[in-house]
Amino acid sequence: MNVHEYQGKELLKQYGAVVPRGQVAFTADEAVDAAKNLGGELWVVKAQIHAGGRGKAGGVKLAKNLDEVKAYAGELLGKTLVTHQTGPEGKEVKRLLIEEGCPIDKEYYLGVVIDRATNRVTLMASSEGGTEIEEVAEKTPELIHKVVVDPAVGLQVFQARELAYAIGIEDKKLVNQAVNFMLGLYQAFVDKDCSLAEINPLITTKDGRVMALDAKLNFDSNALYRHKDIVEYRDLDEEDPKEIQASKFDLSYIALDGNIGCMVNGAGLAMATMDIIKHYGGDPANFLDVGGGATAEKVTEAFKIILDDPNVKGILVNIFGGIMKCDIIADGVVQAAKEVGLDRPLVVRLEGTNVERGKEILNQSDLKITAADSMADAAEKIVALVK
Ligand code: ADP
Ligand code: MG
Repeated sequence: MNVHEYQGKELLKQYGAVVPRGQVAFTADEAVDAAKNLGGELWVVKAQIHAGGRGKAGGVKLAKNLDEVKAYAGELLGKTLVTHQTGPEGKEVKRLLIEEGCPIDKEYYLGVVIDRATNRVTLMASSEGGTEIEEVAEKTPELIHKVVVDPAVGLQVFQARELAYAIGIEDKKLVNQAVNFMLGLYQAFVDKDCSLAEINPLITTKDGRVMALDAKLNFDSNALYRHKDIVEYRDLDEEDPKEIQASKFDLSYIALDGNIGCMVNGAGLAMATMDIIKHYGGDPANFLDVGGGATAEKVTEAFKIILDDPNVKGILVNIFGGIMKCDIIADGVVQAAKEVGLDRPLVVRLEGTNVERGKEILNQSDLKITAADSMADAAEKIVALVK
């Protein structure tokens, strides 16, 4: 799960990591009030969306007086920002962070990830902050420094210090602040079950401070049950409505941008189904795993979510009935098609428990269904039908 920058900063602050003073605003008037509360003579008006690259897209504005705060807030609220992370459709700005403007001396990058090669939490830092870190990793990988944390002892002060030196923070006062920042960030990451924490940029200021100007935190959804405070941060406006609907029914659904809707049981089979669709020249519109013990209602709901997607030009149902029974899937498909009307081609491949009963149910319905004998056959047929 993603959260907004201001929420990430709120959390970091609890761990002693320094962030600029700031306040969230939902209207232009609230933005002006926030700026008045903060005081000072320079404010930053920042669009809050679950995507980076806002600066380049005009979503971060420097305001020199309250009139400018108001004008920028009015301009940004309701605007659809298109950044390199939002996709071409962009994201509508509904919240702003009003922050004190900071006298930046230098921008750095600091990230915490779980390294799959070592299975350990790893800190990455670079002197090349503010820019896209992917580009730095590609062109000048030697400018990215890493420390791997032993989970038995956690991040050690000497490791944090080494990282600070490696990126060129050498002044003693700044080093100590950078170390504290890293320790706080690491502790937040572990305590809250983050899957990613990115501070880009981490800055040193002209008046000798180290702080986070940006914060991107991702949380492991499977651990949210033990973090009520993080769940509170969820912003449904930032999520795909189809995925929200799917999560209500405990379906693993991820929207993609192809045109073949897939209904599959088991994550492995779902991945294989997407692969084989691609192999035959098609593009899946979603990943959907209805799970092992799905009921007919769950299947109906899943089918409705797929049909609701206007990009879907055809549907492929690929079920291996192990725990899941084929007749239940067939019931669900027929039920959903009756409720919402099936106006697009449907290819079904069923195999396993109660497969004969399942096929009977499909045949006896008046739905126009193309039966397939194997996965390859099914993929070939649906790709041909949507072309
Ligand atoms: P994004 O990564 O989405 O572009 P950032 O929060 O990193 O957004 O902001 C982009 C740039 O704007 C930063 O690299 C920094 O130069 C500037 N900036 C952001 N917040 C502040 C602030 N509080 N004071 C001064 N400059 C800021
Ligand atoms: Mg940034």
